[in-house]
Amino acid sequence: MARYDLLAAGKTFTRESLAAREPSLWRYSELLPLRETANRISFGEQLTPVVPMRALGSALGLDRLSLKDEGLLPTGSFKARGAAVGISRARELGVRAFAMPTNGNAGGAWAAYGTRAGIEAYIVMPKGAPAINKVECIVSGAHVWLVDGLISDAGKIVAKAVAEYGIYDASTLKEPYRIEGKKTLGFELIEQFAWSVPDVILYPTGGGVGLIGIYKAIRELQAMGLLEERLPRFVAVQAEGCAPIVRAFDARQTESTFWKDSQTVAFGINVPKALGDFLVLEALYESGGTAIAVDDSSIVAMQRRIGQAEGLFICPEGAATLAAAAELRRREWIARHERVLAINTGTGLKYPDVTLPELELLQPDATIRIETHK
Ligand SMILES: *Cc1c(COP(=O)(O)O)cnc(C)c1O
Repeated sequence: MARYDLLAAGKTFTRESLAAREPSLWRYSELLPLRETANRISFGEQLTPVVPMRALGSALGLDRLSLKDEGLLPTGSFKARGAAVGISRARELGVRAFAMPTNGNAGGAWAAYGTRAGIEAYIVMPKGAPAINKVECIVSGAHVWLVDGLISDAGKIVAKAVAEYGIYDASTLKEPYRIEGKKTLGFELIEQFAWSVPDVILYPTGGGVGLIGIYKAIRELQAMGLLEERLPRFVAVQAEGCAPIVRAFDARQTESTFWKDSQTVAFGINVPKALGDFLVLEALYESGGTAIAVDDSSIVAMQRRIGQAEGLFICPEGAATLAAAAELRRREWIARHERVLAINTGTGLKYPDVTLPELELLQPDATIRIETHK
């Protein structure tokens, strides 16, 4: 993993200097791997908002529930953070082409940023990936293959191609820079919580890179003396159809084992065995956190409920974190007064098929009856 001279960085990376910087992930430059500003590949990444969830929070018995909405980033998911920094650094290193396995959003983001950098993309994804992710990659001019299997199968195919052709391997955690981009999610939320940590952070965990990134960000800020020593309790949220981290956590293991025949509507977290599982588990144990699985029907129900309560259309993975928050509140693992932050990793707009119910079809001469409750 990337390491920095924190003492040197601390000379310019201060609370005061940050307050005056550009509102994007590039504001954390001392703690990012890019050497030259000129190598930045950017679509104008914004800081994502922490949205208070008062209506849903009050229904769940959580007085201070909020959601960090990563769906507003370029390409509609937080994968843009990893791609912005990963592709910029790849360009700086002179990379001309990369290959990666993906469940969809990483491919969409890396294809887009790659094209902007003049780097060719070779992408393999499961045939069951959301249609929009296939379209995104194609629109950006990437070479795309589907595999009759899971992301782990896509990973094996990419590994063979990387070995044979010697091109850049952009697989999760095979290169060290993607996580550095995702780490900015952690810096951002710490600034938004006025240089303190929330009590609980819930993260929809597939490869777990976002969770590891937030953890790394907090540790770096603590080492620089910019943040209290306390950690938030991390919650790794998974789907019941694919919960290797939960199974490992429950058995107090330090690594997970492959989850057979994994399946869930929350496609971004359908990762049967994560390369960085030991780092995710370490963050859970160190922080007094936990891991929890929720089923697909509660994910879809929660996605609708958030829309109805808050007007937010979030992705199924993000909805999983709120279904988990509801369950952990019920078990009293989370107390009413605690500051709880759920991470919504993408926009619901990317997954119409998960959400669309049967609607009534009217003839053009039909009339509708309106009974207002107002
Ligand atoms: C990739 C992805 C995740 C999982 O992220 P990791 O950091 O790899 O665990 C969750 N939600 C969405 C929408 C994703 O695209």
